[in-house]
Amino acid sequence: MVGVVGGLGLVMLTGWLWLDAVVAIGVALNILREGWRLVWRSSQGLMDEAVAPEVLATIDQTLAGFALEREGAEIVRFDHLSTRQAGQRCFVDLHMHLPGQWSLARAAALRANVEQALMAAVPGLRATIQLLPTNMEADAKALPPDAMKTGS
Ligand SMILES: [Zn+2]
Repeated sequence: MVGVVGGLGLVMLTGWLWLDAVVAIGVALNILREGWRLVWRSSQGLMDEAVAPEVLATIDQTLAGFALEREGAEIVRFDHLSTRQAGQRCFVDLHMHLPGQWSLARAAALRANVEQALMAAVPGLRATIQLLPTNMEADAKALPPDAMKTGS
């Protein structure tokens, strides 16, 4: 009788131990899965991912409000637009082409307006706008990557 009870007790004990091991393995697997998800998400953040299409549409719309044409000629033109997302932050890089005879003060003022409009349209957006004359394109080889970019 004592042996039966003892045996039963042992079965129960080993049963619980077995269950304990299963739970422990389950917990370990869960930790691994969560860890993998964290690594995956941070790697996605580090890789340059374009912003969501609706954010891009908002950016395009905002820029369109500043684009200017006169007698078929483009006065203010935006191109070379690229976006990326890093975690919660959105970044946009673009060219703003302006008439070469514009004063630097006028060009800088317009750039400030465009930057403000972009930040108002997309909260948390960082805009990097490169100023260029209308008929000139930036030569990536002639300039270091950070040249002519706006301060952040
Ligand atoms: Zn350009």
